[in-house]
Amino acid sequence: MKNPFSLDGKTALVAGASRGIGLACARSFAQAGARTILASRDMKALEGEAAKLRDEGFQAEAAKLDVANSASIQECAAALPDVDILLNCAGINLRKKFETYTREEYDRVLQTNLHGIFELTQLVGKKMIERGKGGKVIFIGSMMSVLGLPYLSVYGITKSALWGLTRILAAEWGRHNIQVNCIAPGFILTDLNRDMWQQPVLKNWLNGAQANPKMGSGEDIGPSAVFLASPGADYITGQILAVDGGYSTTANWPFEPNA
Ligand code: NDP
Repeated sequence: MKNPFSLDGKTALVAGASRGIGLACARSFAQAGARTILASRDMKALEGEAAKLRDEGFQAEAAKLDVANSASIQECAAALPDVDILLNCAGINLRKKFETYTREEYDRVLQTNLHGIFELTQLVGKKMIERGKGGKVIFIGSMMSVLGLPYLSVYGITKSALWGLTRILAAEWGRHNIQVNCIAPGFILTDLNRDMWQQPVLKNWLNGAQANPKMGSGEDIGPSAVFLASPGADYITGQILAVDGGYSTTANWPFEPNA
């Protein structure tokens, strides 16, 4: 029987693949058999990671992409081969009191996390539709797609919007056999938050707050991306998959039963 989770013969584009979650997903795609295009602004990092994957016997290449720059998005999309799988992972974060965001900060986060992803998905999706062979689009949302934590208002606007877009595109592109889903990673240790998680108070808090008390890593997300990109997920669309150690669905309390 053919492995339903194999990505053999598929081409995957990972937007935001130079490090962190995007890199881990790109590595998982390549390991699952996909020709994987690692894209972001940092060509040196991407070339290095793609070369490492090729040395390990997988198919990988690098592509320059700045999702905050329309010309860069168009240039990248025009140079792409036929893409079967698009993983939108590029993103930035800014933690501040709502009252203190400047217009420039707001625009920067919206441009990267939402407007650029919108434009890239339009261009890649249009080609998928024209090609007529279906495809998979995966957005990297966040727990902020569905939950509210303080000081993440602008980030939360973008991540909620990606989850909204997931549902609508799933409906719109279902007739083209394109499945659209969203992954909501939990607390994943990366460059985006490494400094914040140095604080003992936060580490202790996580220990009591989450069913699985350990912090996640990019490697916890990669396999879920492979699953949603694979033929095994052909009947799954318009979903959000929390990969968060149980944070968004469980709670701890001090009660202990007598028996
Ligand atoms: P990192 O900072 O480690 O990685 C961010 C990635 O996004 C890099 O590859 C970076 O590439 C890319 N990127 C940023 N800006 C741009 C841009 N303008 N154009 C192209 N690529 C860009 O962060 P994470 O791995 O933690 O985050 C990845 C995604 O996961 C983000 O969307 C984030 O919101 C989301 N997420 C993360 C969580 C976490 O706990 N870490 C939790 C929930 C969601 P480069 O700098 O080379 O351009």
